[in-house]
Amino acid sequence: MEEGEAEMRQSGRYSRFTAGAAALLLAALLFLPPPLCGRQARQAVVPGTPGQVRQAVVPDTSLRRADLVEIVRLDSTIRLDIRYATSGNFMGRPMYTEARAFLQRPAAKALVRVHRKLRSLGYGILVFDGYRPWRVTKKFWDETPPSQRAFVADPRKGSRHNRGCAVDCSLYDLRTGREVLMPTAYDAFTDSAAARGVSGTLEERRCRDLLRKVMEGEGFRVEPNEWWHFDYKKWRNFPVLDVPFERIP
Ligand SMILES: [Zn+2]
Repeated sequence: MEEGEAEMRQSGRYSRFTAGAAALLLAALLFLPPPLCGRQARQAVVPGTPGQVRQAVVPDTSLRRADLVEIVRLDSTIRLDIRYATSGNFMGRPMYTEARAFLQRPAAKALVRVHRKLRSLGYGILVFDGYRPWRVTKKFWDETPPSQRAFVADPRKGSRHNRGCAVDCSLYDLRTGREVLMPTAYDAFTDSAAARGVSGTLEERRCRDLLRKVMEGEGFRVEPNEWWHFDYKKWRNFPVLDVPFERIP
């Protein structure tokens, strides 16, 4: 799951396009080669009722050019445990076709700096999730009962994961290669998952606090209810994207 407070991106520019023009743009996008599709197109979620959520292609020069980077290409010692590529997630089935993790380049570089700072302390970064295509957020929303939707992002707004500016991560022990124990498991939506809560053992809280401290030092901000979720500080500069993993080079 993910944070539910992603910012609504009101796109006045969209009103200048007819539905037909938007459809033509979308059709053109689908036939572009993947690098062009992922890097030059601007895709944004437009407002609507939950039953009418739709997506439009919106040229938008006010947002930074999308530049998703595969994290392990910057540092292959960052470990991955991509839960949404397995059945081991709250949806109970794989939601990603590939076990890969991407972030916008500045965020990916910041995460590498975190990883290298932790090395001298005997830890490395373990990534559960990074960029998430908008269509996956839409599936989460559609299949979550209304009473539990506080835990999932509203697709009308998109999320910081959709912008490639949020990462879910933990620490692994460099000696053993194992994930360290934290106060809760990843995606445990209980009060015990609070980033500054008192749950867990002293050692579990020490590891959680160490992760937060080093992440904050490199420009990330923790989600108060999820010790594992961090937003990159400049997330507003990046667009909501719906490029599937297999189309990212
Ligand atoms: Zn998250």
